[in-house]
Amino acid sequence: MFELTDEERELAAMVRDFAEAVVAPQSYEADRTHTLSMDVVAQMGDLGLFGLPFPEEYGGQGGDYMALGIAIEALGRVDQSIAITLEAGVSLGAMPVFRFGSEEQKREYLPGLLAGRALAGFGLTEPEAGSDAGATRTTARLEGDEWVIDGSKQFITNSGTPITRFVTVTAVTGNEGGRKQISTIIVPNGTPGFTVEAPYDKVGWNASDTHPLSFAGARVPVGNLLGQQGSGFRNFLSILDEGRIAIAALSTGAAEGCLEAAVDYAKSRTIFGSALSTRQNAQFTLARMRARVHTARLAWHHAARRRDVGRPFAEQAAIAKLVAGEAAMDNARDATQIFGGNGFMNEFPVARHYRDSKILEIGEGTTEVQLLVIARALGLAG
Ligand SMILES: Cc1cc2nc3c(=O)[nH]c(=O)nc-3n(C[C@H](O)[C@H](O)[C@H](O)COP(=O)(O)OP(=O)(O)OC[C@H]3O[C@@H](n4cnc5c(N)ncnc54)[C@H](O)[C@@H]3O)c2cc1C
Repeated sequence: MFELTDEERELAAMVRDFAEAVVAPQSYEADRTHTLSMDVVAQMGDLGLFGLPFPEEYGGQGGDYMALGIAIEALGRVDQSIAITLEAGVSLGAMPVFRFGSEEQKREYLPGLLAGRALAGFGLTEPEAGSDAGATRTTARLEGDEWVIDGSKQFITNSGTPITRFVTVTAVTGNEGGRKQISTIIVPNGTPGFTVEAPYDKVGWNASDTHPLSFAGARVPVGNLLGQQGSGFRNFLSILDEGRIAIAALSTGAAEGCLEAAVDYAKSRTIFGSALSTRQNAQFTLARMRARVHTARLAWHHAARRRDVGRPFAEQAAIAKLVAGEAAMDNARDATQIFGGNGFMNEFPVARHYRDSKILEIGEGTTEVQLLVIARALGLAG
């Protein structure tokens, strides 16, 4: 169970080669200029990465979540912005359509998304609704044969790239027994009344596309409802469970990238006449970093395998996200320490990992939200 199959090994090697040859050379400049390379996205599309966990009939590769995680981990090792573009493109962009869309919606949207020729965002978070996603204030009311949407979303990944086709938003569509009825609706970019605001000035993931969104009387056809009316809350929770596995894979890649860079640096850096790697404090730091990578990888593999064979995986996904996110942040901090002053210079990828990794403890459910999920699995009701 914990070893990769031959096919999975080949995929890992293929994406690792691509990451080294195509992604890594552009990462420094993309981060510095806050630019997502659409050429890299197109090449990932050509490799079939956006279609990995989807059936061939929609243009997918017929793989599973394990395959997706393997690709994301290999990309996350060198460039978290590129890795999150794939992660969000698949788990937040295409997956909701595949899981909850009508046959017509699947045929309409999936071929472009799975080929990497189009991207989609998932708009859940609002200024007043993050961890407490049920506090959604954005509304969608039916007027004739149209939904009229008002409200705002924040921090939405892949929402404003040149190839973004739509954003799936959660919105309150009514009241059920005193509780908000939440539904998910596809809002195409370019819809009058839907504005993709200016991108954020972020601490990290600078080459990833993230915007606030606003909706002022944005009208879309009634047929843009994704899934059943009122099923939005349940749907996005299951989307987030899966997404946590993918973020854990990304985090593992980041932790691995930091480890490899730190080992190489410690071997090559001479300190007081001998290699830094001969000092026990450096060895212990590197050994601990290795143990974190190993633990994080086992955790996301376990969650992905459970998901792929149809077993419950929410708790395992939360554990993987928790452990791997912390591994990435801890390894980034330790790697920059091993690098000394160079670790504070952006030209060294560990410096970028240091800035990039913090969000791994926040996005798609904060560390505290993962702890809540795990505590609930222990029968500890809040
Ligand atoms: C770069 C980036 C990309 C993102 N991409 C997307 C996207 O594509 N789509 C999308 O919908 N969202 C996206 N997000 C939003 C992200 O998922 C949220 O920021 C995250 O879920 C936390 O929500 P919040 O920011 O509102 O923080 P809050 O929920 O306000 O949390 C603040 C603090 O309170 C803690 N906390 C919250 N609830 C509890 C509790 N019950 N018990 C104890 N502690 C608690 C949190 O852990 C945190 O430490 C993105 C965010 C960033 C920064």
